[in-house]
Amino acid sequence: MTIPLIIALVLVLILTLIAIKVGMNKEESVDPFFDNVQLRSGIYSVVRKSPREHLLQIRPSEEEIRKYLSRINEDICKLPVTDSEKLDLLHFWNDSINSNVEAIESGDRDGVEFYYYGFPRSCPGCKGFVAKGHYVSREEIYRNPSIVPPFHIGCNCIIMPHSGGENLKETTELSLRPFFEDESVPPLPEWTSVVNYCKTDKV
Ligand SMILES: [Zn+2]
Repeated sequence: MTIPLIIALVLVLILTLIAIKVGMNKEESVDPFFDNVQLRSGIYSVVRKSPREHLLQIRPSEEEIRKYLSRINEDICKLPVTDSEKLDLLHFWNDSINSNVEAIESGDRDGVEFYYYGFPRSCPGCKGFVAKGHYVSREEIYRNPSIVPPFHIGCNCIIMPHSGGENLKETTELSLRPFFEDESVPPLPEWTSVVNYCKTDKV
């Protein structure tokens, strides 16, 4: 009677030890994984934060733009700018900030990684700086909100989510090329480069 009891007790002890060991192994393997997921989702949500606030901080205020426009009579192409066109330019500036930020917010909802620049109308102010087909990553936008258009008063540049799932860095589309050559932000137009977009198409 005693020997089977001892054997049973030893078995229970062995099983308990095995259970504890398995439990410890589980903890070891679950924890780092959990941390990784937390870390990754943390970065993900930070990168996906709307660029609106940052962009408004670095762009001139409506008041600054209004003041600047009151001092000029022509744009960088020597086209005259009337008072009513100045008002249009101010509205255009606000609409442009909103629509470009909304394009990124909507891209974020779809998990878009890359954005590219487009020009529904030509933009003399962006010439030599940003071109059609230049693309940037969502992380580059997060790190440098200054790469979100409008770049200057009357800027016709827009940013669009690249809906394709492929990595643009491996794209074979010749028209698409990265905007960044290295970590530093490429030169951008001065915000004071006024383009009278109302008349640009007539140039
Ligand atoms: Zn422009």
